[in-house]
Amino acid sequence: METILFLAFTEADGSLSKLALETLASAQSLAASLPGSKLLAGLVGATIQPAADSIAACGASRILGVCGAEFAQSRYSTDAAASEAIAKAAAASIILAPAGSRANRTLAGVAQRLGGRIDTHVTALAAAEGKLAVTRWYYRQRMEGTLSRTSRPWVVLLESGCAEAYAGPSGSATVEGVLVALPAIRTEVTGLKSPPADQQTIRPDAKLLFVAGAGWTKKQPDGQAHPAEAEQLILGFLSRAQASLGSTKSLVDLSGEGQEVLKFMTHLNQIGQTGATPRHQKGLATCCHGEEPHTVGWRFINERRAINLNAACSWAQGKADVLYVADSFEVMRKVNALLGASS
Ligand SMILES: Cc1cc2nc3c(=O)[nH]c(=O)nc-3n(C[C@H](O)[C@H](O)[C@H](O)COP(=O)(O)OP(=O)(O)OC[C@H]3O[C@@H](n4cnc5c(N)ncnc54)[C@H](O)[C@@H]3O)c2cc1C
Repeated sequence: METILFLAFTEADGSLSKLALETLASAQSLAASLPGSKLLAGLVGATIQPAADSIAACGASRILGVCGAEFAQSRYSTDAAASEAIAKAAAASIILAPAGSRANRTLAGVAQRLGGRIDTHVTALAAAEGKLAVTRWYYRQRMEGTLSRTSRPWVVLLESGCAEAYAGPSGSATVEGVLVALPAIRTEVTGLKSPPADQQTIRPDAKLLFVAGAGWTKKQPDGQAHPAEAEQLILGFLSRAQASLGSTKSLVDLSGEGQEVLKFMTHLNQIGQTGATPRHQKGLATCCHGEEPHTVGWRFINERRAINLNAACSWAQGKADVLYVADSFEVMRKVNALLGASS
């Protein structure tokens, strides 16, 4: 019989993130499929009552909470102390948490304090023969493994996009406060710095991934390179479509070779074997050849299209659903005009 604890950190306004609600839905279905198990919820944050009310009908037999100004910001010592106290108060055997930055940073240490085990980057949960089995990827998303553990407590961090978010009615929840011996606080968060929204080009929740390849900075049929126009076309499209921006390795490496590059592009945008493997419904590759080390990063993109001048590029060899043999500058100029972009 498992005691399943859904453990989450609340947002600044006291609510739960979409990822946390996805994890809660997974915890609910796990509890339903493991006979005799029970579900509890644990919340940590500056304010937790709004979150507790929003999950009042989730079926948790107890909602445990740690709240206060000290728990507003991500800080290892306070986050770990709060999580440990809740896990102990719940006598949890399985602790299921959303793989956000706070849990990713803290819960391995908490598992160690509890004498338990942890699995991170989990993408699916299943109850097989009355036991929990988790699925995760290995070797840069090339191999998928399913595993089970006998050690308890077992902490499992669930990735985003792996379940539908919990959407039950809100109500009036009773939260049982859990006492925490406050650790020495040596780290103070003095503020947050984030780039302006129009410079934030990586958008994991976007429906479309727009990938720019090295072709955008190469000499075009008129014998000239047009990086300024490339930048304007790409940014114009991103802001209108709210797409996420990906890149090839060649394009992000160009800066190291002293070539003029797109200023907003960094190695974080790189998709592929040595880059990211994002999950978006659709992908559009522009000025990019579609070589295997790049397209391996597209494995979770459902609908793939590419624009390339070369009809014999790799996209034409079964890597894309649709290849437009065309000039990306011309196509994106037209697309932006249709979307009403200024460029
Ligand atoms: C071990 C290893 C790991 C690697 N990992 C990665 C990785 O993680 N990610 C990655 O991206 N690469 C990776 N690579 C590199 C990869 O093999 C390719 O070299 C790279 O993806 C090529 O980038 P590209 O398509 O942008 O550039 P190019 O190959 O230079 O292609 C540019 C394309 O733009 C087209 N083009 C030019 N102008 C236009 C225009 N006006 N309109 C339309 N099309 C135009 C050209 O026809 C050409 O096909 C790796 C390589 C190795 C060996």
